[in-house]
Amino acid sequence: KLLLEVKDLTAIIAESKQPILKGVNLTVHEGEVHAVMGKNGSGKSTFAKVLVGHPDYEITGGSVTYKGQDLLEMEPEERAVAGLFMSFQSPVEIPGVSNIDFLNMAYNAQRRKLGLPELGPIEFYGYVAPKLEIVNMKVDFLNRNVNEGFSGGEKKRNEILQLAVLGAELAILDEIDSGLDVDALRDVAKAVNGLLTPKNSENGRIVKTGDISIAEILEKEGYKAISGI
Ligand code: ADP
Ligand code: MG
Ligand code: MG
Repeated sequence: KLLLEVKDLTAIIAESKQPILKGVNLTVHEGEVHAVMGKNGSGKSTFAKVLVGHPDYEITGGSVTYKGQDLLEMEPEERAVAGLFMSFQSPVEIPGVSNIDFLNMAYNAQRRKLGLPELGPIEFYGYVAPKLEIVNMKVDFLNRNVNEGFSGGEKKRNEILQLAVLGAELAILDEIDSGLDVDALRDVAKAVNGLLTPKNSENGRIVKTGDISIAEILEKEGYKAISGI
């Protein structure tokens, strides 16, 4: 079943009007895992942020259909309620707000939108504690301030914990693998788990689509191997 269909999507930076996305096409069916790969600065994070409705960007053309709805017409909160989740390449630190309070607030906001009763702190603890195992995090991470003093790997685990708490039909994980040591990478990969269908993006466009073999070529020869396509 079709989940996401992006057609000829173009977007600019709202402030400077600089074009970033220059005609992106991507189709995602339920159960599929896609990897969008590309050089630094090619627009991968921008693409992710545009999909969740980040205000820094303006759509100038194309369309995005999510579960049959026009995604671009939806508010960011509506997109979240509809099952869209994004983890950030550089998760922000929130001093003074404990991780568990933050997760509880986010989860309750979602439940309110769905017309479900909110969970109090004790109930929520019962809900979140088993999920720590998924990302191999210790209980004390819940009491620390959101991402404050977390290592790169701990921040990424925390993003996946948010995903586990909020759930998602379509999870957009921006560089969820960067900066991770082998253990963290294994934990995160295990948590994310699924089929891999790599896609290559360059200069604001997806220039080559294929299977895992493309990732292997890139690993060996770098992005020059696919430039000029
Ligand atoms: P990638 O994630 O592929 O490394 P990005 O999407 O982060 O690339 O960035 C693409 C280009 O757009 C870069 O040149 C970046 O500096 C620029 N860019 C993205 N967002 C902004 C912004 N909010 N303000 C200014 N420049 C931006
Ligand atoms: Mg980058
Ligand atoms: Mg990026």
